[in-house]
Amino acid sequence: MNIILLGPPGCGKGTQAERLQDKYGLVQLSTGEMLRAAVAAGTEIGLKAKAIMDEGKLVPDEVVVGIISDRVDQPDCKNGFILDGFPRTVAQAEALDRMLADKGMELHHVIEMVVDEDALFARIEKRAAEAAAGQVRADDNAETLRKRLDVYREQTAPILPYYRDRGRLKQVDGMATIEEVGEALKDIVEGGK
Ligand code: AMP
Repeated sequence: MNIILLGPPGCGKGTQAERLQDKYGLVQLSTGEMLRAAVAAGTEIGLKAKAIMDEGKLVPDEVVVGIISDRVDQPDCKNGFILDGFPRTVAQAEALDRMLADKGMELHHVIEMVVDEDALFARIEKRAAEAAAGQVRADDNAETLRKRLDVYREQTAPILPYYRDRGRLKQVDGMATIEEVGEALKDIVEGGK
């Protein structure tokens, strides 16, 4: 079973992707995590991506598409995967459709975690304050997080109509508790809703 989780930074995608991974034996594929690993390892991709990520901008489509294409071919993805943070542009969504068709793979659920923008800002400020206290991620400062939210609105939100127009978009209330969001995702995944 292959799933895409969509939603702005701070909506809780990563948390829910981890839960789906544990519950259904799927693999969480977070392009953000993969890029951070490439930065830490000092690979060629990492060197190119670092400055872009630090500014909260998007790494070029072909870079992330290539990373995902290689990753889904790995044996641990045979039960299925959850895409977390990918696709992030309409071009990536189109490339993903082509890629999966070429590989004979299917996309079973495209799920948006819908959140209220004001509440999201509050979460973002909180995350930034936590990061400032004990830095976890270089891009978790308030300014960069705001920039990432702008980038989401401008470049990523247009993929919602891309999937909606094709009758593939499902939604859950991302403002509910972690448990409740988990239940809503379970209904979709197990009920095919
Ligand atoms: P994330 O952990 O998903 O919030 O991603 C952190 C950063 O990695 C983003 O702000 C982007 O700079 C970069 N990134 C992650 N996924 C993508 C993607 N699908 N396309 C372009 N850039 C990405």
